[in-house]
Amino acid sequence: MKIDFANLKKAHLEYADEINFAIQKVIQNTSFIMGEEIQALEEELANFVGCEYAITCSNGTSALLLALMGAGIQAGDEVITSPFSFIAGAEMIALLGAKPVFVDIDPQTFHIHPKYIPQAITPKTKAIMPVSLFGQIPDMDTINAIAKQHHLIVIEDGAQSFGAMYKSRKSGNQSPLAITSFFPSKPLGCYGDGGAVFCNDKNLADKIKTLRIHGQSKRYQHSMIGLNARLDTLQAAILRIKLKHYPDQIARRQKVAMLYNKHLQNKSITLPYTDTKTQNVYAQYCILTSDREGLQKNLSSYEIPYAIHYPKPLHLQDCFAYLNYHQGDFGIAERVSNEILSLPMNAYLSEDEIKYISKAILECL
Ligand SMILES: *Cc1c(COP(=O)(O)O)cnc(C)c1O
Repeated sequence: MKIDFANLKKAHLEYADEINFAIQKVIQNTSFIMGEEIQALEEELANFVGCEYAITCSNGTSALLLALMGAGIQAGDEVITSPFSFIAGAEMIALLGAKPVFVDIDPQTFHIHPKYIPQAITPKTKAIMPVSLFGQIPDMDTINAIAKQHHLIVIEDGAQSFGAMYKSRKSGNQSPLAITSFFPSKPLGCYGDGGAVFCNDKNLADKIKTLRIHGQSKRYQHSMIGLNARLDTLQAAILRIKLKHYPDQIARRQKVAMLYNKHLQNKSITLPYTDTKTQNVYAQYCILTSDREGLQKNLSSYEIPYAIHYPKPLHLQDCFAYLNYHQGDFGIAERVSNEILSLPMNAYLSEDEIKYISKAILECL
């Protein structure tokens, strides 16, 4: 059985006619930069998320940079974030000369644990950047309450959670600022790089739109220092088609996760924690095991692809050595990094394939 980890091929084939038509239309119009599909997509994204403004941009990392710049984060400021995530958030904080301040994670959800946030707040703290990891949103009520009490901005890194819900709100509409990524293997992926920033404040949205195009307020009039971080019109045209079908994709991903839950019942592995206040879009389906090497070997012998998100926590990365964190500082993030394993996850996995993967895992326990 040949199993595909993210199965971008099948995802394309399912909507190929519509997508090819949309691509051809952009090419014929030659409106490659900021064509009409950009504004149309931004309206559709804002509607979907339930927020006022969606500002598309070149990728999730530039979305993080635009959000941080929009929030006025500067050199010397501190931003509290998770040590167990993809590097982009902490990286953009550091790129602005601000300091990423890590706090340990919740052992069940792998999210930044709100109980450790207050003790990390200093007079320099300006923002909290929780990550909606693997498609599930953290305990935003508690995080927002801490932020309010200390006058901090919350920026949700929703790169993996577009479409996820916490209580009655979607990812992107949990806090004053949020971002997502449309990297091809994210739950809603485009055909290259793409991202978006979400907010409800008009001034903030205008500032971020200006920053996205060289801080340009009018043509060749630059009111601030910005960047070139636009989304390509071609990607917007593709995303508009994929967004239309996205609720169906989410439902199918959730069904795949439920089938894994059903077939992977075993005391010696920990399945993804389901928070009843949230709806997970399962960017990844991750299990914890104390014998990751054994499982990896067995999966490889069946030619089943897997991934590790993430093998090294951020506080131990060489690029952050100057922050002076050490092994042992965030014990939960470190343990999870050693035990976590991502199984194939996409809307196209059949129950037979899920049984096959589950069998390969269970037989080596
Ligand atoms: C993918 C990802 C990003 C970065 O998105 P890109 O579009 O690849 O730049 C940021 N944060 C998290 C948590 C991610 O998973």
